[in-house]
Amino acid sequence: MEDLHVLIVGAGITGLLLAQALKKASIPHTIFEAEVSATAYRPRQWGLSIHWSYPLLRKILPQELFDRLQEAQCDPYYTNPDVENLNIYNGSTGEQMTVMPEPHHRRFNRARMRAFCAQGIDVQYSKKLASISYPTSDTVRVHFEDSTSATGTLLVGADGTHSRIRRQLLGPEKGAATSASTAEESFVFTNTMVRYPNPEHAKFVRALHPVFYMGLHPEGGLFWVSPQDVPDPQDPSSWTFQLFMNWRGQAPADGTNILPELKAWAPKLVDPWKSAIEWLPDDTFVQAQKIGYWMPIPRDNMGGRVTLAGDAAHPMAPFRGQGLSHCIADVSSLLSQLELFITGSGSLPKPTFAEVITAYDSEVIARAGDEVETSLQTMRFLMTWDKVQQSASFTRSADPNAAALKILAAKT
Ligand SMILES: Cc1cc2nc3c(=O)[nH]c(=O)nc-3n(C[C@H](O)[C@H](O)[C@H](O)COP(=O)(O)OP(=O)(O)OC[C@H]3O[C@@H](n4cnc5c(N)ncnc54)[C@H](O)[C@@H]3O)c2cc1C
Repeated sequence: MEDLHVLIVGAGITGLLLAQALKKASIPHTIFEAEVSATAYRPRQWGLSIHWSYPLLRKILPQELFDRLQEAQCDPYYTNPDVENLNIYNGSTGEQMTVMPEPHHRRFNRARMRAFCAQGIDVQYSKKLASISYPTSDTVRVHFEDSTSATGTLLVGADGTHSRIRRQLLGPEKGAATSASTAEESFVFTNTMVRYPNPEHAKFVRALHPVFYMGLHPEGGLFWVSPQDVPDPQDPSSWTFQLFMNWRGQAPADGTNILPELKAWAPKLVDPWKSAIEWLPDDTFVQAQKIGYWMPIPRDNMGGRVTLAGDAAHPMAPFRGQGLSHCIADVSSLLSQLELFITGSGSLPKPTFAEVITAYDSEVIARAGDEVETSLQTMRFLMTWDKVQQSASFTRSADPNAAALKILAAKT
Protein backbone atom coordinates (compact mmCIF):
# COMPACT_ATOMS: atom_id res chain seq x y z
CA MET A 1 0.00 0.00 0.00
CA GLU A 2 0.93 3.68 -0.18
CA ASP A 3 2.89 5.03 2.81
CA LEU A 4 0.57 5.36 5.81
CA HIS A 5 -0.82 8.88 6.19
CA VAL A 6 -3.79 9.57 8.44
CA LEU A 7 -6.19 12.43 7.66
CA ILE A 8 -8.16 13.60 10.69
CA VAL A 9 -11.22 15.76 10.07
CA GLY A 10 -12.34 17.66 13.17
CA ALA A 11 -10.10 19.27 15.79
CA GLY A 12 -12.35 18.82 18.79
CA ILE A 13 -10.87 16.99 21.76
CA THR A 14 -11.05 13.59 19.97
CA GLY A 15 -9.28 14.75 16.80
CA LEU A 16 -6.62 16.58 18.80
CA LEU A 17 -5.99 13.62 21.10
CA LEU A 18 -5.63 11.41 18.05
CA ALA A 19 -3.14 13.88 16.54
CA GLN A 20 -1.19 13.84 19.82
CA ALA A 21 -1.14 10.02 19.85
CA LEU A 22 -0.03 9.76 16.20
CA LYS A 23 2.64 12.41 16.72
CA LYS A 24 3.95 10.52 19.76
CA ALA A 25 4.03 7.27 17.72
CA SER A 26 5.66 9.05 14.72
CA ILE A 27 2.76 8.13 12.41
CA PRO A 28 2.32 10.73 9.62
CA HIS A 29 -0.95 12.63 9.82
CA THR A 30 -2.71 15.91 9.02
CA ILE A 31 -5.60 17.40 11.00
CA PHE A 32 -8.27 19.69 9.51
CA GLU A 33 -10.87 21.83 11.25
CA ALA A 34 -13.85 23.75 9.87
CA GLU A 35 -13.54 26.61 12.33
CA VAL A 36 -11.36 29.56 11.47
CA SER A 37 -8.91 29.42 14.36
CA ALA A 38 -7.99 27.71 17.60
CA THR A 39 -9.79 30.37 19.60
CA ALA A 40 -13.00 30.42 17.52
CA TYR A 41 -14.73 27.58 19.33
CA ARG A 42 -18.44 27.09 19.50
CA PRO A 43 -20.11 29.07 22.28
CA ARG A 44 -21.77 26.11 24.04
CA GLN A 45 -19.62 25.12 26.99
CA TRP A 46 -19.74 22.51 29.69
CA GLY A 47 -17.55 20.52 32.03
CA LEU A 48 -16.33 17.05 31.08
CA SER A 49 -15.91 14.44 33.76
CA ILE A 50 -13.63 11.54 33.02
CA HIS A 51 -12.79 8.66 35.37
CA TRP A 52 -11.91 5.16 34.10
CA SER A 53 -10.33 6.53 30.91
CA TYR A 54 -7.81 8.73 32.72
CA PRO A 55 -4.96 6.14 32.67
CA LEU A 56 -5.30 5.91 28.86
CA LEU A 57 -4.29 9.56 28.54
CA ARG A 58 -0.80 8.62 29.72
CA LYS A 59 -0.37 6.50 26.59
CA ILE A 60 -1.87 9.14 24.28
CA LEU A 61 -0.27 12.37 25.45
CA PRO A 62 3.40 13.29 25.63
CA GLN A 63 4.56 12.92 29.24
CA GLU A 64 5.08 16.68 29.53
CA LEU A 65 1.42 17.38 28.70
CA PHE A 66 0.09 14.50 30.80
CA ASP A 67 1.94 15.94 33.80
CA ARG A 68 0.21 19.32 33.29
CA LEU A 69 -3.36 18.05 32.74
CA GLN A 70 -4.55 19.82 35.87
CA GLU A 71 -4.30 23.13 33.95
CA ALA A 72 -7.31 22.04 31.83
CA GLN A 73 -9.56 21.31 34.81
CA CYS A 74 -12.63 23.39 35.59
CA ASP A 75 -10.84 24.26 38.80
CA PRO A 76 -7.11 24.08 38.01
CA TYR A 77 -6.33 24.73 41.70
CA TYR A 78 -8.24 21.68 42.90
CA THR A 79 -6.26 18.59 43.85
CA ASN A 80 -8.23 15.46 43.04
CA PRO A 81 -8.55 12.68 45.58
CA ASP A 82 -7.95 9.11 44.36
CA VAL A 83 -11.72 8.60 44.29
CA GLU A 84 -14.22 11.42 43.81
CA ASN A 85 -17.74 10.82 45.10
CA LEU A 86 -20.67 12.07 43.06
CA ASN A 87 -23.52 12.30 45.55
CA ILE A 88 -27.06 12.06 44.26
CA TYR A 89 -29.83 13.57 46.38
CA ASN A 90 -33.57 13.77 46.47
CA GLY A 91 -33.83 17.42 45.42
CA SER A 92 -37.20 17.86 47.10
CA THR A 93 -36.05 16.72 50.59
CA GLY A 94 -32.24 16.87 50.54
CA GLU A 95 -31.99 13.18 51.49
CA GLN A 96 -28.94 11.48 49.94
CA MET A 97 -30.08 8.69 47.62
CA THR A 98 -26.80 7.18 46.46
CA VAL A 99 -23.15 7.87 45.91
CA MET A 100 -21.19 7.17 42.73
CA PRO A 101 -17.52 6.63 43.56
CA GLU A 102 -15.38 7.71 40.58
CA PRO A 103 -11.73 6.60 40.69
CA HIS A 104 -9.27 8.85 38.75
CA HIS A 105 -11.96 11.50 38.40
CA ARG A 106 -10.97 14.68 36.59
CA ARG A 107 -13.38 17.41 35.47
CA PHE A 108 -12.17 19.37 32.47
CA ASN A 109 -13.33 22.72 31.18
CA ARG A 110 -14.26 21.95 27.56
CA ALA A 111 -12.73 25.06 25.96
CA ARG A 112 -9.57 24.85 28.06
CA MET A 113 -9.16 21.12 27.41
CA ARG A 114 -9.42 21.68 23.68
CA ALA A 115 -6.77 24.42 23.78
CA PHE A 116 -4.62 22.20 25.99
CA CYS A 117 -4.80 19.27 23.56
CA ALA A 118 -3.95 21.57 20.61
CA GLN A 119 -0.51 22.35 22.02
CA GLY A 120 2.21 21.32 19.55
CA ILE A 121 -0.36 20.25 16.93
CA ASP A 122 -0.38 21.95 13.54
CA VAL A 123 -4.13 22.20 12.79
CA GLN A 124 -5.24 23.28 9.29
CA TYR A 125 -8.10 25.68 10.12
CA SER A 126 -10.93 26.92 7.84
CA LYS A 127 -11.10 23.47 6.22
CA LYS A 128 -14.73 22.38 6.18
CA LEU A 129 -15.10 18.93 4.69
CA ALA A 130 -17.52 18.83 1.74
CA SER A 131 -17.07 15.34 0.32
CA ILE A 132 -14.87 12.23 0.13
CA SER A 133 -13.50 10.38 -2.90
CA TYR A 134 -11.31 7.32 -3.43
CA PRO A 135 -8.72 8.04 -6.15
CA THR A 136 -7.01 4.61 -5.99
CA SER A 137 -7.71 1.29 -4.26
CA ASP A 138 -5.66 2.24 -1.18
CA THR A 139 -6.11 6.02 -0.89
CA VAL A 140 -8.83 8.39 0.26
CA ARG A 141 -9.24 12.06 -0.62
CA VAL A 142 -11.05 14.75 1.36
CA HIS A 143 -12.50 17.74 -0.48
CA PHE A 144 -13.08 20.98 1.40
CA GLU A 145 -15.60 23.73 0.79
CA ASP A 146 -12.75 26.09 -0.22
CA SER A 147 -12.09 23.75 -3.21
CA THR A 148 -8.83 22.40 -1.80
CA SER A 149 -8.27 18.71 -1.11
CA ALA A 150 -5.87 16.33 0.62
CA THR A 151 -5.05 12.67 0.05
CA GLY A 152 -4.07 9.99 2.57
CA THR A 153 -4.42 6.29 3.31
CA LEU A 154 -6.86 6.55 6.24
CA LEU A 155 -9.54 9.15 6.94
CA VAL A 156 -10.72 9.44 10.56
CA GLY A 157 -13.99 11.35 10.91
CA ALA A 158 -13.76 13.13 14.26
CA ASP A 159 -16.34 15.69 13.21
CA GLY A 160 -18.76 15.43 16.11
CA THR A 161 -22.41 14.54 16.73
CA HIS A 162 -23.67 15.61 13.31
CA SER A 163 -20.68 14.10 11.45
CA ARG A 164 -20.87 14.75 7.72
CA ILE A 165 -18.47 11.84 7.18
CA ARG A 166 -20.85 9.46 8.99
CA ARG A 167 -23.75 10.70 6.89
CA GLN A 168 -21.72 10.30 3.70
CA LEU A 169 -20.81 6.73 4.64
CA LEU A 170 -24.29 5.66 5.69
CA GLY A 171 -26.62 8.03 3.88
CA PRO A 172 -28.58 10.98 5.28
CA GLU A 173 -31.12 8.89 7.21
CA LYS A 174 -29.09 6.02 8.63
CA GLY A 175 -26.22 8.35 9.47
CA ALA A 176 -28.27 11.05 11.20
CA ALA A 177 -28.32 11.52 14.99
CA THR A 178 -31.68 11.07 16.75
CA SER A 179 -33.06 13.55 19.27
CA ALA A 180 -33.10 12.25 22.86
CA SER A 181 -36.41 14.09 23.32
CA THR A 182 -39.23 12.66 21.23
CA ALA A 183 -42.92 13.33 20.73
CA GLU A 184 -43.71 10.26 22.88
CA GLU A 185 -41.28 11.11 25.68
CA SER A 186 -40.24 14.74 25.72
CA PHE A 187 -37.68 16.53 27.86
CA VAL A 188 -36.46 20.07 28.34
CA PHE A 189 -32.65 20.14 28.48
CA THR A 190 -30.88 23.25 29.74
CA ASN A 191 -27.19 23.93 30.24
CA THR A 192 -26.45 27.39 31.60
CA MET A 193 -23.21 29.08 32.60
CA VAL A 194 -23.68 31.50 35.49
CA ARG A 195 -21.63 33.73 37.77
CA TYR A 196 -23.01 34.85 41.12
CA PRO A 197 -21.77 38.42 41.70
CA ASN A 198 -22.30 38.02 45.45
CA PRO A 199 -19.31 35.94 46.65
CA GLU A 200 -21.35 34.53 49.56
CA HIS A 201 -23.86 33.11 47.06
CA ALA A 202 -21.09 31.48 45.03
CA LYS A 203 -19.56 29.97 48.20
CA PHE A 204 -22.98 28.67 49.30
CA VAL A 205 -23.69 27.03 45.93
CA ARG A 206 -20.31 25.27 46.05
CA ALA A 207 -20.40 24.31 49.73
CA LEU A 208 -22.14 20.95 49.26
CA HIS A 209 -19.28 19.61 47.11
CA PRO A 210 -16.27 21.28 45.45
CA VAL A 211 -16.72 19.50 42.10
CA PHE A 212 -20.33 18.40 41.46
CA TYR A 213 -23.65 17.28 42.88
CA MET A 214 -26.97 16.17 41.48
CA GLY A 215 -30.53 16.45 42.74
CA LEU A 216 -33.42 14.40 41.37
CA HIS A 217 -37.01 15.50 41.75
CA PRO A 218 -40.03 13.18 42.06
CA GLU A 219 -41.86 15.15 39.33
CA GLY A 220 -39.17 14.12 36.82
CA GLY A 221 -36.36 16.66 37.09
CA LEU A 222 -32.57 16.36 37.20
CA PHE A 223 -30.62 19.30 38.62
CA TRP A 224 -26.83 19.24 38.27
CA VAL A 225 -24.48 21.90 39.65
CA SER A 226 -20.71 22.09 39.15
CA PRO A 227 -18.06 24.80 38.98
CA GLN A 228 -17.06 25.35 35.33
CA ASP A 229 -14.29 27.89 35.73
CA VAL A 230 -12.33 29.03 38.76
CA PRO A 231 -9.97 31.79 37.65
CA ASP A 232 -9.26 32.92 41.23
CA PRO A 233 -9.90 30.42 44.03
CA GLN A 234 -9.87 33.28 46.59
CA ASP A 235 -12.56 35.29 44.77
CA PRO A 236 -15.84 33.31 44.56
CA SER A 237 -17.45 36.10 42.52
CA SER A 238 -15.05 35.13 39.70
CA TRP A 239 -16.29 31.52 39.59
CA THR A 240 -18.55 30.33 36.77
CA PHE A 241 -20.96 27.48 37.47
CA GLN A 242 -22.51 24.99 35.11
CA LEU A 243 -26.21 24.42 35.80
CA PHE A 244 -27.24 21.36 33.81
CA MET A 245 -30.95 21.26 34.61
CA ASN A 246 -33.43 19.05 32.85
CA TRP A 247 -37.04 18.02 33.25
CA ARG A 248 -39.87 16.26 31.55
CA GLY A 249 -41.89 18.61 29.37
CA GLN A 250 -42.27 20.17 25.95
CA ALA A 251 -39.26 22.21 24.81
CA PRO A 252 -40.23 25.70 23.62
CA ALA A 253 -39.29 27.11 20.23
CA ASP A 254 -35.58 27.78 19.59
CA GLY A 255 -34.38 31.11 20.94
CA THR A 256 -36.96 31.35 23.76
CA ASN A 257 -35.59 32.41 27.15
CA ILE A 258 -36.95 29.81 29.60
CA LEU A 259 -35.48 31.42 32.73
CA PRO A 260 -39.08 31.71 34.13
CA GLU A 261 -39.67 27.97 33.59
CA LEU A 262 -36.41 27.13 35.36
CA LYS A 263 -37.19 29.56 38.19
CA ALA A 264 -40.58 27.87 38.63
CA TRP A 265 -38.69 24.79 39.86
CA ALA A 266 -37.00 26.66 42.73
CA PRO A 267 -39.92 26.48 45.25
CA LYS A 268 -40.13 22.71 44.71
CA LEU A 269 -36.46 22.21 45.55
CA VAL A 270 -34.43 22.43 48.74
CA ASP A 271 -31.11 24.22 49.06
CA PRO A 272 -28.62 24.50 47.53
CA TRP A 273 -30.55 23.87 44.27
CA LYS A 274 -33.32 26.27 45.35
CA SER A 275 -30.97 29.19 45.91
CA ALA A 276 -28.72 28.30 42.96
CA ILE A 277 -31.78 28.87 40.76
CA GLU A 278 -33.35 31.77 42.67
CA TRP A 279 -30.07 33.73 42.59
CA LEU A 280 -29.74 33.45 38.82
CA PRO A 281 -29.35 37.06 37.66
CA ASP A 282 -32.47 38.36 35.86
CA ASP A 283 -30.53 38.84 32.62
CA THR A 284 -29.52 35.16 32.47
CA PHE A 285 -30.47 33.56 29.17
CA VAL A 286 -31.62 29.96 29.65
CA GLN A 287 -32.11 28.13 26.42
CA ALA A 288 -33.54 24.67 25.71
CA GLN A 289 -30.72 22.55 24.28
CA LYS A 290 -30.84 19.72 21.79
CA ILE A 291 -29.27 16.43 22.79
CA GLY A 292 -28.72 13.85 20.08
CA TYR A 293 -27.52 10.27 20.04
CA TRP A 294 -26.65 7.73 17.38
CA MET A 295 -26.38 3.98 17.80
CA PRO A 296 -23.19 2.76 16.09
CA ILE A 297 -23.83 0.10 13.43
CA PRO A 298 -21.54 -1.93 11.12
CA ARG A 299 -20.69 -0.07 7.92
CA ASP A 300 -18.48 -0.36 4.85
CA ASN A 301 -15.09 1.13 5.78
CA MET A 302 -13.97 1.14 2.15
CA GLY A 303 -11.27 -1.47 2.63
CA GLY A 304 -10.04 0.21 5.80
CA ARG A 305 -9.78 3.70 4.27
CA VAL A 306 -12.45 5.49 6.39
CA THR A 307 -13.42 5.25 10.02
CA LEU A 308 -14.99 7.35 12.78
CA ALA A 309 -13.94 8.37 16.28
CA GLY A 310 -15.41 10.27 19.21
CA ASP A 311 -18.89 11.77 19.00
CA ALA A 312 -18.87 11.17 15.23
CA ALA A 313 -18.79 7.44 16.04
CA HIS A 314 -21.11 7.38 19.06
CA PRO A 315 -22.83 10.59 20.19
CA MET A 316 -24.59 9.80 23.46
CA ALA A 317 -26.88 11.50 25.98
CA PRO A 318 -24.52 12.99 28.62
CA PHE A 319 -26.26 11.58 31.70
CA ARG A 320 -23.54 9.13 32.70
CA GLY A 321 -20.58 11.38 31.85
CA GLN A 322 -19.13 8.70 29.56
CA GLY A 323 -18.82 10.48 26.19
CA LEU A 324 -15.27 11.76 26.45
CA SER A 325 -14.08 8.55 28.11
CA HIS A 326 -15.18 6.64 25.02
CA CYS A 327 -13.50 9.26 22.77
CA ILE A 328 -10.27 8.61 24.67
CA ALA A 329 -10.77 4.83 24.43
CA ASP A 330 -11.29 5.19 20.65
CA VAL A 331 -7.95 6.96 20.28
CA SER A 332 -6.22 4.32 22.38
CA SER A 333 -7.86 1.48 20.44
CA LEU A 334 -7.07 2.97 17.02
CA LEU A 335 -3.47 3.63 18.00
CA SER A 336 -3.07 0.00 19.11
CA GLN A 337 -4.43 -1.24 15.79
CA LEU A 338 -2.15 1.04 13.75
CA GLU A 339 0.83 -0.11 15.81
CA LEU A 340 -0.20 -3.72 15.20
CA PHE A 341 -0.28 -3.02 11.45
CA ILE A 342 3.17 -1.40 11.55
CA THR A 343 5.03 -3.81 13.81
CA GLY A 344 2.95 -7.01 13.76
CA SER A 345 2.52 -9.20 16.82
CA GLY A 346 5.32 -11.69 17.47
CA SER A 347 5.20 -14.74 15.23
CA LEU A 348 1.64 -14.10 14.00
CA PRO A 349 1.24 -13.04 10.35
CA LYS A 350 1.03 -9.24 10.00
CA PRO A 351 -2.60 -8.12 9.58
CA THR A 352 -3.64 -6.11 6.52
CA PHE A 353 -4.70 -2.48 6.86
CA ALA A 354 -8.32 -3.43 6.15
CA GLU A 355 -8.16 -6.01 8.95
CA VAL A 356 -6.86 -3.63 11.61
CA ILE A 357 -9.38 -0.89 10.78
CA THR A 358 -12.21 -3.45 10.72
CA ALA A 359 -11.06 -4.72 14.12
CA TYR A 360 -11.09 -1.12 15.43
CA ASP A 361 -14.58 -0.49 14.02
CA SER A 362 -15.95 -3.68 15.59
CA GLU A 363 -14.42 -2.84 18.95
CA VAL A 364 -15.91 0.69 18.95
CA ILE A 365 -19.36 -0.51 17.88
CA ALA A 366 -19.53 -3.08 20.70
CA ARG A 367 -18.01 -0.90 23.45
CA ALA A 368 -19.59 2.47 22.70
CA GLY A 369 -22.86 1.06 21.35
CA ASP A 370 -23.54 -0.47 24.75
CA GLU A 371 -22.89 2.92 26.37
CA VAL A 372 -25.09 4.88 23.93
CA GLU A 373 -27.95 2.57 24.94
CA THR A 374 -27.13 2.69 28.66
CA SER A 375 -26.77 6.48 28.74
CA LEU A 376 -30.12 6.96 26.99
CA GLN A 377 -31.86 4.60 29.40
CA THR A 378 -30.14 6.30 32.36
CA MET A 379 -31.46 9.68 31.18
CA ARG A 380 -35.03 8.34 31.01
CA PHE A 381 -34.84 6.47 34.32
CA LEU A 382 -33.30 9.35 36.27
CA MET A 383 -36.29 11.47 35.27
CA THR A 384 -38.89 8.76 36.09
CA TRP A 385 -39.24 8.63 39.87
CA ASP A 386 -40.28 4.97 40.21
CA LYS A 387 -37.39 3.87 37.96
CA VAL A 388 -34.62 6.02 39.44
CA GLN A 389 -33.19 3.13 41.45
CA GLN A 390 -32.98 0.98 38.32
CA SER A 391 -30.85 3.53 36.46
CA ALA A 392 -27.21 2.70 35.79
CA SER A 393 -26.23 5.60 38.06
CA PHE A 394 -27.60 3.53 40.95
CA THR A 395 -26.77 0.02 39.72
CA ARG A 396 -23.44 0.48 37.89
CA SER A 397 -22.10 3.77 39.15
CA ALA A 398 -19.69 5.31 36.56
CA ASP A 399 -17.95 1.99 35.96
CA PRO A 400 -16.74 1.10 32.47
CA ASN A 401 -18.49 -1.71 30.63
CA ALA A 402 -16.75 -5.05 29.97
CA ALA A 403 -15.58 -3.94 26.51
CA ALA A 404 -14.00 -0.77 27.93
CA LEU A 405 -12.22 -2.87 30.56
CA LYS A 406 -10.51 -4.77 27.72
CA ILE A 407 -9.14 -1.51 26.31
CA LEU A 408 -7.89 -0.58 29.76
CA ALA A 409 -6.21 -3.98 30.18
CA ALA A 410 -4.57 -3.70 26.73
CA LYS A 411 -2.89 -0.40 27.59
CA THR A 412 -0.41 -2.10 29.93
C1 LIG B 1 -24.09 19.22 28.14
C2 LIG B 1 -23.06 18.14 27.90
C3 LIG B 1 -22.34 17.63 28.97
C4 LIG B 1 -21.38 16.64 28.78
N1 LIG B 1 -20.72 16.15 29.84
C5 LIG B 1 -19.81 15.16 29.67
C6 LIG B 1 -19.09 14.61 30.78
O1 LIG B 1 -19.25 15.02 31.93
N2 LIG B 1 -18.20 13.62 30.54
C7 LIG B 1 -17.97 13.14 29.29
O2 LIG B 1 -17.16 12.21 29.13
N3 LIG B 1 -18.62 13.63 28.21
C8 LIG B 1 -19.53 14.62 28.37
N4 LIG B 1 -20.18 15.14 27.29
C9 LIG B 1 -19.85 14.60 25.94
C10 LIG B 1 -18.53 15.21 25.40
O3 LIG B 1 -18.64 16.61 25.38
C11 LIG B 1 -18.22 14.69 23.99
O4 LIG B 1 -18.24 13.28 23.99
C12 LIG B 1 -16.87 15.17 23.46
O5 LIG B 1 -16.65 16.53 23.71
C13 LIG B 1 -16.81 14.91 21.96
O6 LIG B 1 -15.65 15.49 21.39
P1 LIG B 1 -15.39 15.33 19.83
O7 LIG B 1 -14.06 15.92 19.57
O8 LIG B 1 -15.63 13.91 19.41
O9 LIG B 1 -16.54 16.17 19.13
P2 LIG B 1 -16.69 17.78 19.02
O10 LIG B 1 -16.26 18.46 20.25
O11 LIG B 1 -18.08 18.02 18.53
O12 LIG B 1 -15.64 18.19 17.89
C14 LIG B 1 -15.91 17.99 16.51
C15 LIG B 1 -15.06 18.97 15.72
O13 LIG B 1 -15.26 18.72 14.31
C16 LIG B 1 -15.41 19.96 13.64
N5 LIG B 1 -16.19 19.72 12.42
C17 LIG B 1 -17.51 19.42 12.34
N6 LIG B 1 -17.87 19.27 11.04
C18 LIG B 1 -16.76 19.48 10.30
C19 LIG B 1 -16.50 19.45 8.89
N7 LIG B 1 -17.48 19.20 7.99
N8 LIG B 1 -15.24 19.70 8.46
C20 LIG B 1 -14.24 19.95 9.35
N9 LIG B 1 -14.43 19.99 10.70
C21 LIG B 1 -15.68 19.76 11.17
C22 LIG B 1 -16.12 20.85 14.64
O14 LIG B 1 -15.96 22.22 14.34
C23 LIG B 1 -15.45 20.44 15.96
O15 LIG B 1 -14.30 21.21 16.24
C24 LIG B 1 -21.14 16.14 27.46
C25 LIG B 1 -21.86 16.65 26.37
C26 LIG B 1 -22.82 17.63 26.59
C27 LIG B 1 -23.61 18.16 25.40
